[in-house]
Amino acid sequence: MRIAVVEGDGIGKEVIPVARKALELLRPDLEFFPVEAGYGRWQRTGTAIGDEEISALRSADFILFGAVTTPPDPDYRSVIVRIRKELDLYANIRPVKGEGFDMVIVRENTEGLYSGIETVEEDRACTLRCITRKGSERIARYACRLAGSRRDLTIGHKANVLKSDVFFRNICIEQAELTGVPWKEGYIDALCLDVLQRPQRYDVIVTTNLFGDILSDVAAYLAGGLGLLPSANIGDRHALFEPVHGSAPDIAGNNVANPIAALQSAAMLLRQAGDDRGAGIIEGAVSRVLDRGIRTMDMGGTAGTKEFGDEVVREIATLQK
Ligand code: NAD
Repeated sequence: MRIAVVEGDGIGKEVIPVARKALELLRPDLEFFPVEAGYGRWQRTGTAIGDEEISALRSADFILFGAVTTPPDPDYRSVIVRIRKELDLYANIRPVKGEGFDMVIVRENTEGLYSGIETVEEDRACTLRCITRKGSERIARYACRLAGSRRDLTIGHKANVLKSDVFFRNICIEQAELTGVPWKEGYIDALCLDVLQRPQRYDVIVTTNLFGDILSDVAAYLAGGLGLLPSANIGDRHALFEPVHGSAPDIAGNNVANPIAALQSAAMLLRQAGDDRGAGIIEGAVSRVLDRGIRTMDMGGTAGTKEFGDEVVREIATLQK
């Protein structure tokens, strides 16, 4: 199996080597190859990601992705948004687990407010929120399949204000009724608060692109911070695994970033590849290190990224025996 590795920018360059080390130890049969993309590449070459890199990503069985910096420059096109669109990675899966709750946010990943249909004029700027039947049906089907193997579905939307969300909501309900999945719904603003106050009420939450982006950062609070949350970007032909967090320029280069989100993303990659045992070993190794009281700075500890990673790798070696 060939894994493309995009470390990207900032802490992507620190946490992805940890995740890669874990995968290398567990699965010596995996072949890794680097793909350079991100703001650093843009500063050096004038292109953040080229057609050649997109082809290299297409050729991989799976992609392990760190994070990229996106400057607030209207001429700069986000690398990760481009990859999601080009590889048609329509389902963004973000599990959030903790004491007494276990939810999965399923975010539509290719359209909505991130469709990239934008105009900037002197006195106004417009972003078109385009939501299609095809895009809504496939994300709703994905979420219903997942909810069918778990408990229930919550549809997050703002249908009281946005006609495009009436459209999205109705398609989600159609799919839930078709598949017999129990469903409820919530306005996304109220849902953000309720997820924090009563997380145990939620199982699978399906929502549109920007709302899902915000809701998963909100839910990160429950898990203990952005450094802990993994995600998968799934399409029919390709799959990319990345921490939910960004390149964190405020801490980059200091060996303080929490590598757990990257490690859990590697576990999601193995699970997608059918290796439940390997995924379980990574998750178990992370838990054992935390049980020993070892933590990075964001969790109130003093371990560096590398040191935490080395402990996880040591535990993987033990669990593997
Ligand atoms: P961020 O996730 O990079 O950081 C938010 C806060 O969380 C920061 O204080 C950071 O130090 C902290 N944090 C994040 N990950 C952490 C970790 N692993 N360990 C410890 N602390 C961690 O979000 P931001 O500051 O809004 O964005 C920074 C850059 O990242 C921007 O250029 C943004 O566009 C980009 N970004 C990229 C992606 C992606 O590549 N998928 C996702 C989000 C943001």
